Amino acid sequence: MIPVEAGTAVVLYLLSFLAVIAAAGLYNGIRRRAMRVEPKPTHIFRCARCGHPYLDAEELEHARCPRCGMENEPQRI
Ligand SMILES: [Zn+2]
Repeated sequence: MIPVEAGTAVVLYLLSFLAVIAAAGLYNGIRRRAMRVEPKPTHIFRCARCGHPYLDAEELEHARCPRCGMENEPQRI
């Protein structure tokens, strides 16, 4: 075993404790960034037949109503 003074042992203990906390914070930050999902651009549609509002992909010019199946144009806001 390596002989170490009591003061040095306390400092090493505290530094190792801080290193564990920093590593846990870094790991948590990486995990949060990996789980973030960017929202896709969407258009708001309102069905002309049943009035049901719904979202669909921005690139679509017409989207089918999930309730009644009628094709609708996106709403202008
Ligand atoms: Zn509808």
